[in-house]
Amino acid sequence: MPAKILVSACLMGHAVRYDGQSKPLLHPAIDRWRAEGRLVTICPEMSAGMPVPRPPAEIADGAVGKDVLAGSAKVVEINGRDVTGEFVEAAENALRLAKETGCRFALLIDGSPSCGSGFVYDGSFSGTRHAGAGVAAALLVGNGIEVYSDRQIEALVARIEGLQEP
Ligand code: SF4
Repeated sequence: MPAKILVSACLMGHAVRYDGQSKPLLHPAIDRWRAEGRLVTICPEMSAGMPVPRPPAEIADGAVGKDVLAGSAKVVEINGRDVTGEFVEAAENALRLAKETGCRFALLIDGSPSCGSGFVYDGSFSGTRHAGAGVAAALLVGNGIEVYSDRQIEALVARIEGLQEP
């Protein structure tokens, strides 16, 4: 069976982002992987019942996703509402789907408090970013799934092509 890849729904062109937009990733590998049946699409936040559009949210106080999972940090919307519980549920949904479908890899959009893997925003809603992963990406990595950001698609292409598949 071809190796499966969990992929952010907004990267696949679904209008599920907080602002009601998508952020499609245009790359020939996406079309190829889709045809090969490798892609498993999820918007973790929508899977936890968050609406579209929704207020922007960031991990508070310069923390990162693994801090949220450890219970030492929270996720807040720009209006101050604590949405930590929803973001943890979103991450758990992503991990459950990855396990159920046998995904060894994930391709997630960077910068999101859920899907970010290289950077996230610092909780000040000022556009300030810092290195770290979002809540869902951190949970996936912690469970042995190789997470690539959209900016790393060439590395994922090389990784998939290097697999010994029947
Ligand atoms: Fe995209 Fe992930 Fe945010 Fe959903 S949770 S809109 S898939 S970045």
